[in-house]
Amino acid sequence: MERRCLDCEQPIIGRADKKFCDDACRSNHNNRLHSEETIYLRKVNSILKRNRKILETLNPDGKAKLKRKTLQDEGFDFGYITSTYTTKKGDQYRYCYEYGYLLLGNDEVLLVKR
Ligand SMILES: [Zn+2]
Repeated sequence: MERRCLDCEQPIIGRADKKFCDDACRSNHNNRLHSEETIYLRKVNSILKRNRKILETLNPDGKAKLKRKTLQDEGFDFGYITSTYTTKKGDQYRYCYEYGYLLLGNDEVLLVKR
């Protein structure tokens, strides 16, 4: 099987475990990988920060009950949290940093602060 450089995709000559033509290709590849990672991390971090900001804004007193839709209208993304806390009763609080929420029935949400 012909092996190709992970960076420039030219055929590789040499040791069987070689993945790159040379150090330049290796560092190029690693830089690109790093920047994709950085872009992804920035994207997730900014969603989490926005979620936290929304919870903070809607919950100035440390506890609030509101409609789930209110969070959605503000741009809250329910797919991103930083941690969870499950009570003995089995209720699962989901946190974005120190601000959290618990999904209630009737499309309501209880906002809390750690
Ligand atoms: Zn190469």
